Amino acid sequence: MLDHFPNTPLAQRTAPAIPQHPNLFKRILGLANLGLVVLDARKRIVLWNQWMASHSGMAASRVEGQELFDLFPELLGQRLELAVHSALTNNIAAHLPQALNRTPFPLYPSGTWGGERVEQSIAVTPFSEGRERFCLIEIGDVSTTVGRERLLRDQAESLRAQSYVDGLTGIANRRHFDVALQRELGRAQRHGGHLSLLLMDIDSFKAYNDHFGHQQGDACLAMVAEAFAGKLQRAADLAARYGGEEFAAVLPDTSAEQARQHAEAIRACIAALNITHAPAASRPNVTMSIGVASFDKDRLNDGESLLRAADQALYAAKRSGRDRVVVDGDAVTMAE
Ligand code: GH3
Ligand code: MG
Ligand code: MG
Repeated sequence: MLDHFPNTPLAQRTAPAIPQHPNLFKRILGLANLGLVVLDARKRIVLWNQWMASHSGMAASRVEGQELFDLFPELLGQRLELAVHSALTNNIAAHLPQALNRTPFPLYPSGTWGGERVEQSIAVTPFSEGRERFCLIEIGDVSTTVGRERLLRDQAESLRAQSYVDGLTGIANRRHFDVALQRELGRAQRHGGHLSLLLMDIDSFKAYNDHFGHQQGDACLAMVAEAFAGKLQRAADLAARYGGEEFAAVLPDTSAEQARQHAEAIRACIAALNITHAPAASRPNVTMSIGVASFDKDRLNDGESLLRAADQALYAAKRSGRDRVVVDGDAVTMAE
């Protein structure tokens, strides 16, 4: 750094005189890259910087002296009005992030009035000058930040879609299920242990959608998934959305009889949710049919045959009346 007083002891030094620039503050106000508005105690505009002029299309000479809320009646009843009131009467500062009201002022990207308003983050700060109360309103253009956040959210969503989680229900997706089934099959083959698979399908779900609409159908799927996943308590168990309104569970170290009990508990739990079904459905409330198959080193020893056996058991559960559990190998009486 340049030393102006190389031979003077520190204590005796005084700063060099700074040349006066009478227009400096005005110039800075003109250059500021945010909106600056000052209101007097009667909410009249006493300062309106260049940024405000170029983003609103209204020059300072046109707005200064006018009451802010006469000029922008759409701000009446908004959080900004309350913030200005609190600033001027109670000396309280406020910050209004853009999340709740994105575009309170009719401000547009410089020189493009009309079209999309810029998204605004607003700070309201009271101050006194002499005996008069004022408030400063600072308006930041956060459109770029908000746009970037939206992009990041979209990207996160697409990553999630490629990941192992089902977007609608939050449980494992089909891909995760496939990986888990292969891993557990390998383990069962190596160690000769038990492994069971449940395939479940909501009964008459098409009727539910037709009656209540797809959106409520989605909400129903999410409720069923949460209840079903909640019934599986061992860390190694995997609850997955197999597709559409079908769910699956991989249960390592679980015999066919143990799996039947788990499946029965899940079936009963879904019925007990008591979700009103469509009039055209086979039951008054939403139920689920479940097919169970278990690893067998001679017969059901790969993913394909295990899935086929569980699917056939599920089909048998449907044919024998729905809202029931059928285990591969059960003798089943068909209802139809
Ligand atoms: P069943 O008792 O024989 O299983 O009858 P179903 O009506 O449930 O069977 P089907 O396979 O004919 O119909 C399944 C329906 O599930 C079709 C579709 O409208 C609905 N569905 C599939 N995926 C979704 C989804 O992600 N959201 C919603 N809301 N509905 C879905
Ligand atoms: Mg189905
Ligand atoms: Mg179904």
